[in-house]
Amino acid sequence: MGLLEICSHNSYWRGLDYFENKRVKSLKQINRYEFEADVEGTKTYHVHLDIAHPRKSTCTCPHAADKSTICKHKVVVYFSVFPEKAQEAINVENRSFRTGCKEKFKAT
Ligand SMILES: [Zn+2]
Repeated sequence: MGLLEICSHNSYWRGLDYFENKRVKSLKQINRYEFEADVEGTKTYHVHLDIAHPRKSTCTCPHAADKSTICKHKVVVYFSVFPEKAQEAINVENRSFRTGCKEKFKAT
C-alpha cells in the first residue's frame, strides 16, 4: 500500500496545502526508496520518508510519535517527491469543487 492510501483524509489535505505553500525545505534522496526533508510547520520538523515501507517513515512532530501515524509532513514530502500525484489531487479537488457548485445550482 502506498503512503497516500494509508494516511488520513486530514493529513492528505493538510499535506496538499503544505505542498502548495512550498513548506518542504532541503529534500534529499538517500537511496531509491528513502528521502529526508525538513518541513516548515508550527516548527521545523524532520521527515524520513520510506516509500517502499510507508509505515517505517518517521517525523519529529508530536502526531507521528506513534510511528504508524502518517502525518501531513510525511504526506507533503511524498508530494514533493511525486509532484504529479499532488497535481492529480489538486485536479480532483478542483473538479469536485466545481461539481459541488453545479449541484448547488441545480437544487435552487
Ligand atoms: Zn509530522
